[in-house]
Amino acid sequence: QTSTKQPPLPSPLRFSKFFQSNMRILVTGGAGFIGSHLVDRLMENEKNEVIVADNYFTGSKDNLKKWIGHPRFELIRHDVTEPLLIEVDQIYHLACPASPIFYKYNPVKTIKTNVIGTLNMLGLAKRVGARILLTSTSEVYGDPLVHPQPESYWGNVNPIGVRSCYDEGKRVAETLMFDYHRQHGLEIRIARIFNTYGPRMNIDDGRVVSNFIAQALRGEPLTVQSPGTQTRSFCYVSDMVDGLIRLMEGPNTGPINLGNPGEFTMVELAETVKELINPKVEIKMVENTPDDPRQRKPDISQAKELLGWEPKIKLRDGLPRMEEDFRLRLGVDKSN
Ligand code: NAD
Ligand code: UDP
Ligand code: UDP
Repeated sequence: QTSTKQPPLPSPLRFSKFFQSNMRILVTGGAGFIGSHLVDRLMENEKNEVIVADNYFTGSKDNLKKWIGHPRFELIRHDVTEPLLIEVDQIYHLACPASPIFYKYNPVKTIKTNVIGTLNMLGLAKRVGARILLTSTSEVYGDPLVHPQPESYWGNVNPIGVRSCYDEGKRVAETLMFDYHRQHGLEIRIARIFNTYGPRMNIDDGRVVSNFIAQALRGEPLTVQSPGTQTRSFCYVSDMVDGLIRLMEGPNTGPINLGNPGEFTMVELAETVKELINPKVEIKMVENTPDDPRQRKPDISQAKELLGWEPKIKLRDGLPRMEEDFRLRLGVDKSN
């Protein structure tokens, strides 16, 4: 006896599972330092499709080489100051040079990237209903008069200085994010990132950790910019990526500080790099650049409370990981 019964239709649950599409995520600036680590983490989830849009100003395809050709990955040469028409569910908007020597190189372009670039990504988010996260910066606090800096502090920023294209640019980007949120109901997230370091930083981008490690490996003096008592707090990149994803996935708009509260003077940093990487190098005091903030340390109580996040990797543990990557790229082996 043969059955004429049809196979059962999938239950609503299975049906919806069948049609559940992947999460399509745009990462602007995804070929850069933080962006490429974020892409690595997002690609680990098989439900994510990742699209990177980058103009390669400070980033490189090399940072993404393991994903090129992957069916869930797409790389677009695109400048965010131009409109972008694609369909996505989430936008991590990182595109912007982060190192002072690069953002000061063409300041007008930097401010366009921050303002027009963020406007375009907000227009895109509005058109497709995507959630958008902006990577803002501790530089919005300028040379802070409150220490450590909580999110409620409005900052002490020079509007006409050589850093203004970057810090005022990010401040306008934050304003745009909140205006689109209030006026158009967009789902926004703002991270205020404090100094971050790790593998894949540009070797010659002038930032202090990359400078000191490269100098130590090349046997050159570590250049501490005077007075050397200025402080920074350094967060390892994997901790930062974890914080960014938690912020995107959670319900809070921010702005939320993400950074490592461990605070060091530049002389202390130089001494640590010397001790860990090359005890033979000397430490040399050199002239500083204008408007250099004297102290910086995040207050991360909001991130702890709202995201359940705090950095796990201490400077002494992060520096050797970065050393390994710089050794490979500079071709300096351990015996040197
Ligand atoms: P990065 O320079 O390595 O990466 C920036 C990326 O953006 C690069 O790939 C670059 O090519 C791309 N880009 C620049 N202008 C663009 C444009 N107009 N169109 C498209 N792509 C463009 O810097 P990063 O350290 O990875 O920083 C990423 C983000 O985090 C930036 O928004 C930066 O402001 C922010 N941030 C970083 C730090 C830090 O310590 N690294 C601190 C605070 C904030
Ligand atoms: N935009 C974009 N991609 C889109 C939608 C908009 O790049 O999918 C750009 C658009 O070119 C505009 C900006 O985002 O310059 C702001 O768009 P919005 O719709 O908010 O403002 P309007 O176009 O009305 O000025
Ligand atoms: N700095 C330094 N030597 C260098 C490069 C930078 O002493 O070779 C100092 C710089 O004066 C600043 C701090 O390190 O006080 C951090 O500089 P960086 O450019 O890395 O980041 P930002 O100023 O954006 O925090």
